[in-house]
Amino acid sequence: MRLILLGPPGAGKGTQAQRLVHKHGIVQLSTGDMLRAAVAAGTPIGLKAKDIMASGALVPDEVVVGIIADRIEEPDAKKGFILDGFPRTVPQAEALDELLRKKHLKLDAVVELRVNESALLERVETRVAQMRERGEEVRIDDTPEVLSKRLASYRAQTEPLVHYYSEKRKLITIDGMMTIEQVTSAINRVLAALIEPESSARAAAPSGMKTAKRAAKKAKPAAKTGAKKAAKAAKKSAKAGSATTKKAPKSAGKAARGAKKAAKKAKSRTVAAKAAKTRNKTRKVAKKAAKRPAKAAKRLTKRR
Ligand code: AMP
Repeated sequence: MRLILLGPPGAGKGTQAQRLVHKHGIVQLSTGDMLRAAVAAGTPIGLKAKDIMASGALVPDEVVVGIIADRIEEPDAKKGFILDGFPRTVPQAEALDELLRKKHLKLDAVVELRVNESALLERVETRVAQMRERGEEVRIDDTPEVLSKRLASYRAQTEPLVHYYSEKRKLITIDGMMTIEQVTSAINRVLAALIEPESSARAAAPSGMKTAKRAAKKAKPAAKTGAKKAAKAAKKSAKAGSATTKKAPKSAGKAARGAKKAAKKAKSRTVAAKAAKTRNKTRKVAKKAAKRPAKAAKRLTKRR
């Protein structure tokens, strides 16, 4: 599975990414963590990024795209990954599309955690106070002043990605103001519904299957169930005010279209069968009627 977690600083992307890592056995790729490691190690990238990060601005696109391009090549990313904090600009998203296209990899979904800004400032202030109390080191950019700057760059440069991925039918929006547990359940529900149609279709079409037609025939009911489940999960989450799929993700849409087609076909098959039955009946009645005058003539001759 390949996911992007989208949301302003403090929205809880890191926490939810960790949970997804455990649940799906995939890796979390956080450009923020990688850049902080580079700063700590004093690498050329770290030296370039240090002051930019401290100010709350964004590191140049080519730097982070280079980091991600190398990282997704590593063996532990083969099974899938969660991008946390990347992409943060439209050019980064376009570069990622190109990277994935070249590797024939598909992005499954973009999960946006939507939160309100005043709550974010409060969250960060509480977190910083707690860390100081525990004697832990506080991130240099985790101050209310720098956070305001990071939020401004999120609004200006990252928020356009909501539209970008919504257009691509990849966006799933979750209410990030719920408790951590509720956000996790909302994400799990939507992802389960999204992934299920594909795995059921794959299970229904083993590689040894003789014809593509047979495979498609078997996969259709599974797709139908999956699409139904996805719609149900989205409905359930929307009811709870937790998740909305801006546009139905492509796979769910595809499955629903497939199911619709199959249902239409089945219906037309039933109508055709009924028509054939009626034709047969009519033919039999006509035959009987044709025989009747002959029988009557026979009876008459007998009487004479
Ligand atoms: P984060 O830990 O994701 O909040 O990132 C901390 C800082 O690292 C950000 O404020 C940026 O300065 C930098 N950074 C992380 N990811 C990116 C990215 N994708 N593009 C540009 N700068 C980034």
